[in-house]
Amino acid sequence: MPKMASKRDYYEVLGVAKDAAADDIKKAYRKQAMACHPDRNPGDQEAEQRFKECAEAFEVLSDDNKRAVYDRHGHAGLNGRGGVHEFNDLGDIFEQFGEMFGFGDIFGGGGGGRGGRGRSGRKGSSLKTQITLTLLDAAKGCTRDLEIDREEICKTCSGSGAKPGSSPDTCSYCGGRGQVVQSQGFFRVQTTCPGCRGSGKVIRDKCGKCRGTGRESKPVKLSVNIPAGVDTGMQLCVRGEGEVGTGGGPNGDLFVEIQVKPHPLFQRDGLHLTCHVPITYSQAALGAEIEIPNLDGKQMLTIPPGTQPGEVIRLKKQGMPDPQGSNRGDLRVQVIVDVPRKLTLKQETLLRELAEIEHGNVTPQRKSFFDKLKTFFAGPEDE
Ligand SMILES: [Zn+2]
Ligand SMILES: [Zn+2]
Repeated sequence: MPKMASKRDYYEVLGVAKDAAADDIKKAYRKQAMACHPDRNPGDQEAEQRFKECAEAFEVLSDDNKRAVYDRHGHAGLNGRGGVHEFNDLGDIFEQFGEMFGFGDIFGGGGGGRGGRGRSGRKGSSLKTQITLTLLDAAKGCTRDLEIDREEICKTCSGSGAKPGSSPDTCSYCGGRGQVVQSQGFFRVQTTCPGCRGSGKVIRDKCGKCRGTGRESKPVKLSVNIPAGVDTGMQLCVRGEGEVGTGGGPNGDLFVEIQVKPHPLFQRDGLHLTCHVPITYSQAALGAEIEIPNLDGKQMLTIPPGTQPGEVIRLKKQGMPDPQGSNRGDLRVQVIVDVPRKLTLKQETLLRELAEIEHGNVTPQRKSFFDKLKTFFAGPEDE
């Protein structure tokens, strides 16, 4: 592959500061690599290029020695010493850094990983599906049964593509190697065999079920563990549950996109939840014990005397759990002071009595407000 005319700065590639800690570099790499991961951007050459660029930057910045050389001498310092690995093959990247990409690792997918990506076999295609959860299911984590259609090995011919009782013949054109060598002047060029399209085998009697492809689409039932704390837009990767690979390649992965339904009582903001609780004027003024909803059901909450409308009472660690750590958000109870639209005669009598006392007994806050109001109405030149 031709060298790029000018290489981007490795720190810039990963979007980290020059003095970033090793852990931040790892995090930044993981984030970037996920964004331009070929599984998520099939056929996008630019994303693939970015993916390689990130791997190269990470290879250097994650190695203390190489990073020191790069800091002192830039790209030139590394080129001279053969210290930098240009990733031309995606397989190399998966082999070297594969475990880092796994949502699977974090989200408890099937394990195994991508290491088995052979040079001859091809990994099966990834599949995508969606799951909709209630907020309470998302908060606690749950197991969901899914049914997906995916390509599997044909049962009738065990994947050979040949009619049961017969077997594929070795391709006579390439002798079963799948590759042919052609001479062009001085050069010998190896290409995929046109006779068997690289498989090395030719099927004369095709399997009736799969018409020679060796694969069939089947509905499959799966159970997926959903970790506590997931949010809309997150994707879980279930390793190896995509379509079957070809030529001994590993299975693809299944990506499950999460959708969390809005809740009538809790508004979610990342890990925090907000709940609006109406109280009366007298509860706000005198204080009260009220019942509020939480993720487990309900609890009592003390409203202190003198609580103002809109005030937020924060209940630490009663929000959503962090699916990637042990953190937990807060439950924020926002107080709404309810003004009654209709009064009973007794309420009205008492309130009028209260109003009379309030008229003579002005609080400091109201006093300062009325002072400001007076100056405002008076205007500047009307002194
Ligand atoms: Zn078949
Ligand atoms: Zn052939």
